[in-house]
Parts: sequence; structure tokens; C-alpha cells
Amino acid sequence: MRALLAPVAALALASCATTSRTPPTLDQLARDYLAVQLAIGEKDPGYVDAYYGPPELAEQAAAQDDDMSLPYLQARVIALDATLSAIPVDPGTREAGRVRYLRAMLSSAKVRLRMLRGESIPFQDEAEGLFGVRPELVDLATFDPILAEIEELVPGEGPLHERINAYRDRFIIPEDRLDAVIDAAVAECRRRTVPHIPLPESESFALSLVSDKPWGGYNYYQGDYHSVIEINTDVPARIDRALDIGCHEAYPGHHVYSTLIERDRVNALGEIEFTLLPLYSPRAIISEGSADYGLELAFPGDATMIYERDVLAPLAGIDASEIANYYALREATEALGPAYHTIAAAYLDRTATREETIANIMRYRLSSRERAEQGLEFLDTYRSYVINYDLGREIVGTFVEGAGEDMEARWRRFIGVLSNPTLPEDLLR
Ligand SMILES: [Zn+2]
Repeated sequence: MRALLAPVAALALASCATTSRTPPTLDQLARDYLAVQLAIGEKDPGYVDAYYGPPELAEQAAAQDDDMSLPYLQARVIALDATLSAIPVDPGTREAGRVRYLRAMLSSAKVRLRMLRGESIPFQDEAEGLFGVRPELVDLATFDPILAEIEELVPGEGPLHERINAYRDRFIIPEDRLDAVIDAAVAECRRRTVPHIPLPESESFALSLVSDKPWGGYNYYQGDYHSVIEINTDVPARIDRALDIGCHEAYPGHHVYSTLIERDRVNALGEIEFTLLPLYSPRAIISEGSADYGLELAFPGDATMIYERDVLAPLAGIDASEIANYYALREATEALGPAYHTIAAAYLDRTATREETIANIMRYRLSSRERAEQGLEFLDTYRSYVINYDLGREIVGTFVEGAGEDMEARWRRFIGVLSNPTLPEDLLR
């Protein structure tokens, strides 16, 4: 308690000295919010997913690094949250929305700071605390009947994951074609998105292939409607990966989300809090969920399979006649998705060993050992962040499809999710 009290008193004094009793404006509090998030980012590499706000705030955070203990940062977050909770705003106004958003981000920051101080939080509590949604943990045995159905699709000897991976590896994009295939895929994702989501003329991205990373792909949003996208090539990319990348990282995924937020919140309304994207926050459910669901929206029904069969497979030099079967298998395995939350929980809560976890990923995600180990590296680095993909896609997808069968109405709902300060709770009502 002592460690917390002293910095809170210091903060109160500091704010009296600088604001001379006039209540702070929301814009000032948004700057305080950016300052404290940037300071946490100095302690936790990767915590700040993107920042393109006032550069002096980033410079100050970097310069203060040595003075900022974690208890001091906790006190700053608590004090800022208390100030925000007391600010008079009328319900339903844009101001009320800003306060709600800032407080949701600070609530996640509190949990992340507890983790940084070494507290071990059970998987479901950690996920709920950081991302605002509590993942359900389904007993792995529930997925065994699905595995039995998949067995029928790929008959033969040996473990199912070996047969499936041997089959899937026939669809690996040769290294010397990877650039061309991904470029074509991203261009097609863009072509299918732009008629529905008008974007600023200057929007752009730069994409490069990298290696030795704990993730499969990453969008580093730079501001000014520009994204730097990196794709990890540690594990060979199969044909379906190209459109996954194009839609998830770029159109209508992360690049579009960040571009709309910058245009509609930062530039149009001056809400500078949006210039920082905290990795561990309820925004991740919206961000990863919309990025994953974006593929279904841009390529409804069989459109993915048809485009890969007719365009990408020939470009990659892959036998196009097998693409329909490849897709039938992909669809059959999708129902296994939630198993990963159970596997991740057991690993991170230390009720399953590393080897047991690899075995479970191979069995229930039908991964090769190499891909299972890459998945484990992600879990070691980002922990409960894994829930944002499947759970986010389900939450965003269910909400968007609530618009009915009309695709234009679905796109409108999707834009609404992206260009407003949407929190998962808004989509679950
Ligand atoms: Zn993503």
C-alpha cells in the first residue's frame, strides 16, 4: 500500500500545480492517457502496438524511463481513471463515449501492469481483464467426434495430423512465387473492399517478407494512412495463406481499421487518444475479429476457393483441380477452433507441460510439429492474446451478419464497427 500512496500524493500535487484548480479538459486527459500508455510501453516492449500521436509525448516517455517504477505507473493509471470517472459528461454524448473508451483502456492497463509486476493471473481472468471478453473453455474430448469426421475425409495409415499435413503441403507456394502470389492476393482484397469502404486517396502500405518472428504476420501502422506489413516466412506458406494475409493485414483488415480510425476519430474529431493502439486492450477483439472476418465479407460463399482455383493456384504453379478438396478440408477443420483456447489455458496455467501442449496442438489443430512449435512461441510471447482471433471473428461476424442477407447492409455494419470506438460489449448486446 505504501508504494502506491506516495506516488498518488505526488501526482495530486503535480496536477494542482499545473492546472490551478480548473478541471482538466478531456483533451488534456487524453494526452495524460497517451503519456502513461507510452510510459508503460517503455517497460513492456510490444505493449504499444502503434503510435503516431504528438512526438514529444513519446520522447518524454523514453527520457523518463529510468524513473518510472511499475508501482508508480500503476498509481498514475489509477489516478487518471479516478479523474475520468469524476468528469461530468452527459450520457449518450460523444464526450461520454470518449470517457468510456479511455476507462476501458485503463482497465486493461491495470491488469497488464499487475502481470508485469509478476502476478500470475488465471487464463480466463487474464483474457477477460485484458480484452473484455471471457473465453469459454470447452473440454477437448468434445472435439473428438469432429476429428472422427475429418478422418473419413482423409483415410489412410498413421496419425491424422500427419496425413493432413502431407496433403496440405502439396499446396505450399514455392518460395520464388511467394511475392507474386501475395501481391496478387492483396490487390484482389483491396479491389473487393474499396467499392464498399471509400478510403483516403493517399492510403498506402509497404509489405515485406521477414523471418524469425513469434507471429505469422504483423501490421505496424505508421499514421498518415500508411501501414508497414511484415509476413513471417519461418513456416512455408500454403495457398490459402495469401488471401488470409491480404484480408487480415490489409483490406478490409488492420490497415483499413487503422486508416478509418485515423480519418474519422483523430483527424475529423481531434480525439488524439486513438493515435495509440494498445496491444492488450478490448480493441484487440475488434481489430483481430474484424481482420479475420474481413475475408468472409470480401469473399462470401465459395469466392475464396474460386479465386484461388482460377487465379492464385496457376500463379503459384499448384494443381488447381485439387483446390475444391483442399477447401472442403479447411472448412471441416474450422469447428476445431475453440479447442485452442482450452489448450492455451492449460499451458499458460501450467496444468499441461510443453510437450503435452505440442501434442494437443498437433491433435486438435491438426498441425505439424513445426507449426505447433511456432504456435507455442506465440503463446509464450502474447499469452491470452490468442483469444482475439476466433472469439473476435465470432463476435464481429455475428454482429455484422445480424444485418441480414443483404451484403451492402453487412458492409455498412462492418464500417460502423471499425470507425467508431466500438468495444466488444457493444456487439454482444
Ligand atoms: Zn492481426
